[in-house]
Amino acid sequence: MAYEMETYQGICRYCGEIQPVMAVDQVDADNKISDTCACGGATTEKRRKAMNKNIEKICGSGAVGCGFYEVEPYTREIINKAAEAVLLGHISAAGLELEDSTLSIKETKGKTRIQRKRPICASAES
Ligand SMILES: [Zn+2]
Repeated sequence: MAYEMETYQGICRYCGEIQPVMAVDQVDADNKISDTCACGGATTEKRRKAMNKNIEKICGSGAVGCGFYEVEPYTREIINKAAEAVLLGHISAAGLELEDSTLSIKETKGKTRIQRKRPICASAES
């Protein structure tokens, strides 16, 4: 089935900018404008999805596989908010002292880096 292309007023779902675009329907028009809008909302959304996956891997269900415990929901909320603030550029980095490790969230060369570290130390006296 062929769709007729028409000019629609596409609305960016990130910033509300309205631009004319050839599309099959309003939803298609909105998607096209949202993906190409100069506000960069689509890029931020892509980065957010990847970042949230990384948080899940390092602090959520994947944590045990990395040798850490799964962070409880209350702290997880703080981590999510801190990461979002880093992603949006409100802060350049965030650090948390967790029970078993330190967590850092940092903007590095256009990427959001999540790192969880446990310092290991062996010490002896005699
Ligand atoms: Zn936009």
